[in-house]
Amino acid sequence: METHDRKEVTDVDDALAAFQDRCHGAGMRVTPQREAVFRALVASDDHPTAEAVYRRVRREMPHISFDTVNRTLNTLCRIGAAFIVPGSDTVRHFDGDLSSHQHFRCVKCKRIIDFHDNAFDNITLPGELAQRFVVLRKTVCVEGLCDRCVAEAGLHGEHTDREEQ
Ligand SMILES: [Zn+2]
Ligand SMILES: [Zn+2]
Repeated sequence: METHDRKEVTDVDDALAAFQDRCHGAGMRVTPQREAVFRALVASDDHPTAEAVYRRVRREMPHISFDTVNRTLNTLCRIGAAFIVPGSDTVRHFDGDLSSHQHFRCVKCKRIIDFHDNAFDNITLPGELAQRFVVLRKTVCVEGLCDRCVAEAGLHGEHTDREEQ
């Protein structure tokens, strides 16, 4: 298993090109606002809330409104350029990484960490499910306590200053 906390710049460029194709495919114009929201989303791996995306986009576009950012996020989800990370949290967390990956969600600090694992990516569905439904995306969300929260709670005994990933 490997976790990724940072994106390469080329990944962002590739994602942006795919995003433009997707917009055109959906008969939508690629407006500077849409591109800025998408860019803010894919440039990060922390599965930001709408509020957090808004703060990031505003650095680039000081006059953009929260409402515009929020509506744009919904549009991105509708055309399949992003998705909402499923889970028990009431706040919506957005993900612009469309590659096959799974999530670990910390129930304490609400951090969402991507992980890649072949066994999870290639999970097979029960036959009945595959027959009844059209599956668009499979994703596994594992919930628990993250390394930071475990260290904070002293659950692993001696507190060690572990390097952040
Ligand atoms: Zn945590
Ligand atoms: Zn993710």
